[in-house]
Amino acid sequence: MDAASETQKTQLSISDKLSLIHEKIRVAAEKAGRNVADITLVAVSKTKPLSMIIEAHQAGQIHFGENRAREMRDKQAELSDVHWHMIGNLQRNKVKYLAEYVHLIHSVDSIKLLQEIDKQALKYNRVIDCLLEIHISDENSKSGMTEEEAKELLANMDQFPHIHIKGLMGMAEFSNEKEIIRSQFRRLKNAFDTFGSIQHASIHMDILSMGMTNDFEIAIQEGANMVRIGSAIFGSRN
Ligand SMILES: *Cc1c(COP(=O)(O)O)cnc(C)c1O
Repeated sequence: MDAASETQKTQLSISDKLSLIHEKIRVAAEKAGRNVADITLVAVSKTKPLSMIIEAHQAGQIHFGENRAREMRDKQAELSDVHWHMIGNLQRNKVKYLAEYVHLIHSVDSIKLLQEIDKQALKYNRVIDCLLEIHISDENSKSGMTEEEAKELLANMDQFPHIHIKGLMGMAEFSNEKEIIRSQFRRLKNAFDTFGSIQHASIHMDILSMGMTNDFEIAIQEGANMVRIGSAIFGSRN
């Protein structure tokens, strides 16, 4: 990128960047023959200051994603009328920081975590919506359950009256090869469709959360209806 366009890029406001993302989502949805209204944008604001979140909120953004429970709690205390999404690895002893208000937990990866979420949800007399995070990349580092583990967990949902499972989340590996990313998203979509036939009052496979700044267009082509985008809106993180 030349200096002029680099300057132009940094001068775009958060509102401008949100508009650009919405346009890209619209184009990707159209290409895939899908309705753009079915796709929810979660603006990933982790590590970014409240002022930027407020700017995005004023531009109409409703859903925000954070990956640390205490950071989310602190931001939520200042800005409660948005939907807060937990997208990062969540330790059991941190569930208490978000149980009262969290809109959706994307990163459920064990029965033990689910137990704690259920317990904390009961305290606040609410039902917490959750996604199961499925490990779809070939990288060892990426978190999430196998499809088998997810299946097992879904068979135990009677134990958790204060949880609704609303769908699946996954992260493709960081790769320049679009076909690798595509095949990983496709795997998640297949699992989503398979689990979609489960009949249970607290399991509804409505949300397929996949796609980030670098791969959300592929994710939309492969069926994502929730994308989690950070750096394209708020700039890169340290
Ligand atoms: C950080 C993060 C994102 C957003 O990543 P960008 O590349 O900045 O868009 C999305 N999902 C998860 C789980 C993340 O941790």
